[in-house]
Amino acid sequence: MHFSREEKMLQKMAGEFARGELRPIAADIDREERIPREVIQKMAGVGFTALNVPKEYGGPGLAGISNVCKVLVISELARECASTAEVIAVHTLVNDIFLKHGNEAQKRKYLSAAAAGKIGAFALTEANAGSDASAAATRAVPDGDDYVLDGSKCFISNMGPNEGDYVVVIALTDPKRGTRGMSAIVVDRNTPGFTIGKREEKMGLRGADISELIFENCRVPKSNLIGRENEGFKIAMQALDGGRIGMAAQALGISDAAIAASIEYMGQRVQFGKPIGKLQGLQWYLADMATRTEAARALVLEAAEAADAGEPFTKLASMCKYFASETAVWVTNKALQIHGGYGYMRDYPLERMYRDARIVPIYEGTSEIQKVVIARELLK
Ligand SMILES: Cc1cc2nc3c(=O)[nH]c(=O)nc-3n(C[C@H](O)[C@H](O)[C@H](O)COP(=O)(O)OP(=O)(O)OC[C@H]3O[C@@H](n4cnc5c(N)ncnc54)[C@H](O)[C@@H]3O)c2cc1C
Repeated sequence: MHFSREEKMLQKMAGEFARGELRPIAADIDREERIPREVIQKMAGVGFTALNVPKEYGGPGLAGISNVCKVLVISELARECASTAEVIAVHTLVNDIFLKHGNEAQKRKYLSAAAAGKIGAFALTEANAGSDASAAATRAVPDGDDYVLDGSKCFISNMGPNEGDYVVVIALTDPKRGTRGMSAIVVDRNTPGFTIGKREEKMGLRGADISELIFENCRVPKSNLIGRENEGFKIAMQALDGGRIGMAAQALGISDAAIAASIEYMGQRVQFGKPIGKLQGLQWYLADMATRTEAARALVLEAAEAADAGEPFTKLASMCKYFASETAVWVTNKALQIHGGYGYMRDYPLERMYRDARIVPIYEGTSEIQKVVIARELLK
């Protein structure tokens, strides 16, 4: 794909930012399980927290080409630090919800906040409602001018001790109607009755906050409803279509980084009197890694272009998320093999890339669920 001048400039800027600001601290972010708030502020300064936010709400004005831009920025960030890329990917999904379904007051409040560096979260998953999100049981009972939320959400990105300023919660406003009785309601971090529970200890993406959210008699004004009452499930599913392109972009960045690290290592490491890059067996690994990654990139950009053109893109979003995420797991595994025992050690970044890649085929819909979606779209 050929990028426009603006897209190339944005990609270059994101790459320079990632190499300058994230590369030196990515291992610390992983080890200390925390992304410094200054990094988020710096990303806000260059427009990354407002990728899809129009100029009138403080964004950099890339809204017209938002999905391609999103792919370019998220993949560049993920090359250096997948945790930071995850924060931006989920946050951009939340921006998208406000952009498509928020009223003017909500856009002014939350999109402007996003542009200024506040971070949004999206809460659908519950302990008994993972792949089957329709089983969500958190309730938002209408009471006069308010909703009263009760229940809990789990595994929620962008909310925890270090991150998160507001969260879009999918909750039952009319439990009799199942998914047709769910609404999207925004809850600010310090709302009474809303507490952040356990921050998960994770295999990878250690820098990103992933937490349990607890709502106990949590009262928010009805003006916090996003879109229409009982249309929250539809809003969530639409948001996930766009979100999956972001997650696929994260996978691309991890694959790119693993390939670059492997090329470097193959030139340095000498065994049997020559660099291991001369070994044809390893060259074949590298060729497969690069070919699969480029195929994934083509699919991700096709999905992004379809979304930007206003065409239906559910199938492409699922295909690209499925393929790019499984590719990242495969590529990092092979890259670790190329690094031998050193790849298994924390002194080398491969070990982190391998752990970070493993989540992508799971969240925002597992690979199995992506295949369910793809087949459903094909059989329509
Ligand atoms: C690091 C992390 C961050 C996350 N961030 C968020 C977030 O910000 N917001 C949010 O709402 N959620 C978030 N999640 C939740 C995530 O989306 C779910 O974990 C995911 O959807 C899978 O649900 P589950 O873990 O309950 O697995 P289950 O649904 O219990 O799945 C178990 C297994 O069964 C398979 N399976 C289930 N149903 C089917 C089917 N119909 N056909 C074939 N196989 C099936 C699955 O593919 C999987 O292999 C996050 C999760 C993690 C780990």
